[in-house]
Amino acid sequence: MAPARPAPARPAPARPAPERPTLAVWKFASCDGCQLTLLNCEDELLAIAGSVRVASFTEASTLVEPGPYDLSVVEGSITTASDAQRIKRVRAASRYLVTIGACATAGGIQALRNFTGDLAPVVYAHPEYIRSLRTSTPIADHVPVDFELRGCPVSKEQLIEVIAALLAGRRPNVRGHSVCIECKRAGRTCVLVAGGTPCLGPVTQAGCGALCPAVGRGCYGCFGPMESPNTAALSARWRELGADGPALTRAFSAFTAAAEPFRAAAAAAADEEAASDDSR
Ligand code: SF4
Ligand code: SF4
Ligand code: SF4
Repeated sequence: MAPARPAPARPAPARPAPERPTLAVWKFASCDGCQLTLLNCEDELLAIAGSVRVASFTEASTLVEPGPYDLSVVEGSITTASDAQRIKRVRAASRYLVTIGACATAGGIQALRNFTGDLAPVVYAHPEYIRSLRTSTPIADHVPVDFELRGCPVSKEQLIEVIAALLAGRRPNVRGHSVCIECKRAGRTCVLVAGGTPCLGPVTQAGCGALCPAVGRGCYGCFGPMESPNTAALSARWRELGADGPALTRAFSAFTAAAEPFRAAAAAAADEEAASDDSR
């Protein structure tokens, strides 16, 4: 009689796949350029898409899943009362919240209106239909923010680093140094020293690869202030090169008017101008 065959081993019950962390991308008042940077990540985006569940990213899909979210990435500034409420809901539903770009971290170009009168009647035929706040403010003025990534738009490499770091539970490795460091590393000729061209590179956050000096232009500060910028020293140097108070105020206000170090430098230049007018 043939020996009894052992019963075939039963396949182990399939383990449920581990839950992937959820990523949500939100737009507030902005041009979408920073979201496009994320879409332009191409190869890296496929890796991200494979390791996270994208719960909301209206630039890429109309699907919006309900929270909670492991990581929310926020583009844009707060310019309406409804957005001031919406960001609170986003914050409440998010474990980490990162703001990306000059709009979200410093009010953006639209923050110029913080320093002007009401321009709506000049621009629109029916300003009574405009429902916006008088100011454009950074997201951090409204809710706690875990990390602010500067740029207009943000750098692709820095954006990938911030997303990967926070999803891994570590601190993003984004240095707070100035554009000058990138400029020197790339071996560029300094347009300020060699050409006397006013440049905001010494006080501006690195990340763009010193694009403007690469084409012979001074940096105009679109990445916003670096860590601990010495705006007083740079303002004094600009004055030696012939810049007056209004030129300094315009330079420090252009992209990141609501970023405190640049706002203070713009205000100091305006005050100095007013004081010199009084003494004339
Ligand atoms: S920071 Fe610049 S690129 Fe990004 S959304 Fe604002 S205006 Fe657009
Ligand atoms: S060109 Fe501007 S950014 Fe480059 S080293 Fe000179 S001051 Fe710095
Ligand atoms: S303005 Fe300054 S920070 Fe912006 S791209 Fe040019 S060099 Fe870079």
